Order: sequence, then structure tokens, then C-alpha cells
Amino acid sequence: MKIKNLREILKQESAVNLLKLSFQKKRLSHAYLFTGPRGVGKETTAWAFLFHLFCERDKEYPCGECKACRKIEKEIHPDVRILYPEKREITIGQIRDTIHFLRYRPLEAEYKIIFIKEADKINLEAGNALLKSLEEPPPYVIFILISENFSKLLPTIVSRSQIVRFRSLPKEVIKEFLKKRFLFEDNIAETLADISFGSIGKAVTIAEKGILEELNSFVKAGFSGSPLKKFKVAERLSSFLPEVLDEFFYLLNIWVLRSYLKQKANYPYPKAFPEELFKGDPYSAIKTIYEVKNALDSYANPELSLYFLFNRLFSTT
Ligand SMILES: [Zn+2]
Repeated sequence: MKIKNLREILKQESAVNLLKLSFQKKRLSHAYLFTGPRGVGKETTAWAFLFHLFCERDKEYPCGECKACRKIEKEIHPDVRILYPEKREITIGQIRDTIHFLRYRPLEAEYKIIFIKEADKINLEAGNALLKSLEEPPPYVIFILISENFSKLLPTIVSRSQIVRFRSLPKEVIKEFLKKRFLFEDNIAETLADISFGSIGKAVTIAEKGILEELNSFVKAGFSGSPLKKFKVAERLSSFLPEVLDEFFYLLNIWVLRSYLKQKANYPYPKAFPEELFKGDPYSAIKTIYEVKNALDSYANPELSLYFLFNRLFSTT
């Protein structure tokens, strides 16, 4: 379920106020560039903004029930076009399609929306083609570009867009959100808030996919010295999708670092992390994790690579 009202967006006051004012005063920009770290609500906010623009009953408090709201919820509104990288880039073909789409007036709404995810992946040729539409868009067109890294965008695109900045969320906000949404105990919510560096998206992925539990079983199996236990964990991890496995590697790195900081500087160690601390050299451990991750990206055998990771990490402890 999407958030349908900008008022419900967590802790992004400046972004939310800018958008609210722009539709309340009917001073909509032709292009908005939503920028800020990953997982802090850029996309969620963009969709909420669309509910305000499209709802047929109440623009201030979108109803979520009218035909337009239902189509937005399902991402099937004919006046909204979503673009994202195909094979790592947004290409000239996609932009040409979009320009064609813009040529005709909206079918059902007041506006036509072009929603570009990972806008920094627009390649140069496509970017130049897009510029023309950004310069002289038909009056009913609104672009929403989303990017974690707007320094990678063509400066000419940036200068034609209204920049909407998103910031990292405070730890307390993430913690309370996790407790409410997942009914987590205090120490688990706190750990997840602690290790997600202000990204609620990251905390939610780690929570939903049970990655904290995976870290605990990995470390337990590693310290057990039992080849069978290690192999079972390696087998289970290897069945994960690459992006989930990435989060596991992320967490493993954090465990190595926080173990080191705890031992060297008595820095607080996350409460829901494994009881066992990593005792080896953190630099070579992080290098090993990085190498295994790269090997998996180049299609190495996952079970064997993960088993190798066990042996390397836990042989030094
Ligand atoms: Zn509605």
C-alpha cells in the first residue's frame, strides 16, 4: 500500500513543504529532481505527490478510493509513465518513446507525469534528447526525476529542475518506525536503526528478509567449526537473490568493524548482533568479503564461494 498523503511522510519536512505549497498555490514546476541518500523516502514521496495531483475527490486529502487513486496505487494510470534503467542505462529509445507519449494531452487527468527512477543512469545521448522536452514542455507535463547522486546528472538537466532535497533520517525515527511496523523488541529495532545509517529502506529490507538472523546463524556456524553447519548456511544464503545477498555482505562488514571497534575502543556494539566478536584482522576480512562478493557477481559457484568465505574469516580467529 502506498502512502497517499504527503503529511504522512516521515521527517522530510522541507521536501514535503515545498511540494505541498507547489500544488496548493498551483505553482507546479515542470520538472522536480528528488535527491538524497537511498532509502529515505524519495519514491514514496513522489507517489504521495501524485495522489494529491490526481485524486478526483480531494486534492488536499487524497481519498485512495476514486478511479484515479486506484490506478495510481497499482501504477497503471495511463497518464503516468515510469522510466528506469534497462540494462544499466536509460537509453535514447526510452526517451524517444517518452517524447511521443508527451505529444498528446492527458487522457484522464490534468497532467501527464514522467517518473524517472535512477535518473543518473540516463546516458548522454538520451539526456540530450530529454533536454528539449525539459526546455519547452507542453503545459500539462511534469517530470519527476529521482537520483541518489545528482552530481552524475547532466548539469543542464539539473538546472532545469526544481531540486527537492531529502535527508538521512535520525536513528530514533527509524527505531520507532520499526517498532511500530514490525513490532520488534527494543534491542532489535535499535540495532537495525543503528546499522542502517539513516536509510529506512535499508533497515526495512534487512528486517523483512531476516538478514540479521542470517548474520547470527553465519557467525554461529563459523565458530562451531562444523563443516556440515557451515555448508548448510552457505547453501541457504546461496539461494538468496543478489540484492538480498548484498545486504547480508553489508551486515557482515558491519559486524567485522563493530567487533573491532568494541575490542579496540570499547565502542558500543549493537545489542542484537552475534554474541561472538570477530577477532581477526578487519582489513583482510573486509577485503575477503569484497572478493567473494565480486566473484559471485561474476557468476562463481555460490555455495563454494560462501564456504570459502567461512574458512577465510574464521581461520584467523
Ligand atoms: Zn482519490
